[in-house]
Amino acid sequence: MSKLPNVATSIFTIMSKMATEHNAINLSQGFPNFPVDERLTQIVSKLAFEDVHQYTPMAGYPPLLNKITSLIKTSYARNIIPETELLVTAGATQAIFTTLLALLKPDDEVIILDPSYDCYEAPILLSQAKPIRVPLNDDYTPNWNTIANSFSEKTKMIITNNPHNPTGKILTESDLITLENLLEQHPNVVLLSDEVYEYITFEQKHISTHTRKKILDRCITVSSFGKSFHVTGWKIGYLVAPDYLMKEIKKVHQFLVFSVNSICQVAVSEYLDLVNINEISTFYQEKRDFFRSLLKNSRFQLMPCEGTYFQVVSYAGISDENDVDFCKRLITDYGVAAIPISNFYADGKDLKLIRFCFAKDNQTLEEAARRLSRV
Ligand code: PMP
Ligand code: GLN
Repeated sequence: MSKLPNVATSIFTIMSKMATEHNAINLSQGFPNFPVDERLTQIVSKLAFEDVHQYTPMAGYPPLLNKITSLIKTSYARNIIPETELLVTAGATQAIFTTLLALLKPDDEVIILDPSYDCYEAPILLSQAKPIRVPLNDDYTPNWNTIANSFSEKTKMIITNNPHNPTGKILTESDLITLENLLEQHPNVVLLSDEVYEYITFEQKHISTHTRKKILDRCITVSSFGKSFHVTGWKIGYLVAPDYLMKEIKKVHQFLVFSVNSICQVAVSEYLDLVNINEISTFYQEKRDFFRSLLKNSRFQLMPCEGTYFQVVSYAGISDENDVDFCKRLITDYGVAAIPISNFYADGKDLKLIRFCFAKDNQTLEEAARRLSRV
């Protein structure tokens, strides 16, 4: 009866709910707890009284499409054609869902790297296509030999997530060259590149697929203003795709949402004139360093964090419990919520790793660290 028999309530919902019930500090689901930039809230307040409350054109509010085009030009020196290559979406989630539904046919295979974020698999299954999970190496670098060996006649797509949720790993130049070469050998395969944390990167530079000329003709790149502007609840993002793929994607988009929240589109459009999007990296690098310094003397072992606002830690030296039980006990006994990493693995592999979101004000991070120091 169920179309998704093995899909359960998302771990983000479960952990956030439990955090609320136990009045715990919620470092589980990824969202900031600090105020949105006042300039952005002022724009929204002003817009409430303006004529911006009706449907925008299907692909997006035209000035926003132009601003995104300029942003991509400034950030990546890429010239896109907004009329045919750009779509504003209700967050990255809808961009990804729409793309997969539009492009996949029954029995197509889609390569997903394991561990991975949770929103890829359901639309693949709903399309009656097949997710092929390929494990990353132990240090979360891609194992290109295993990936290459996973391609088959049926492979339609490969999904990458860079910077990577939950590990914060960033693909290197050499990774991208290998990926390009691999795609060259498989001319019918499309790349879906989830880059929602593109502006939250630290020492290691993020290399966007927008800059990879060789594969632009079959690459779909997904971005999210929710991450970049601290407004996850607005659910606003965009995707860039070549014309022939975008035509198919728009066919689904027009019946899934038709168009995206108008006031948020106008607000983001105006805000893009005021904000330097690159400042967000410095902001989060300070948060990352602060949070890591607070946890330095705890019994948790810190994993590297090259990008995103997530810090993965090992509790192997603390407990033998599985990571879901450990996270639950962290909430009930210590008042801090985290996400178990097993949830990002298709087979629920338990490596005694959990993920904290450090997109929080310093006071919250300090109090969380104080509680975690007792573990
Ligand atoms: N991809 C990844 C890797 C994410 O972490 C998230 C959200 N946390 C999304 C996609 C979805 O983004 P949005 O909230 O814009 O739908
Ligand atoms: N992407 C967010 C995270 O990784 C969760 C968003 C959601 O709850 N769907 O925490």
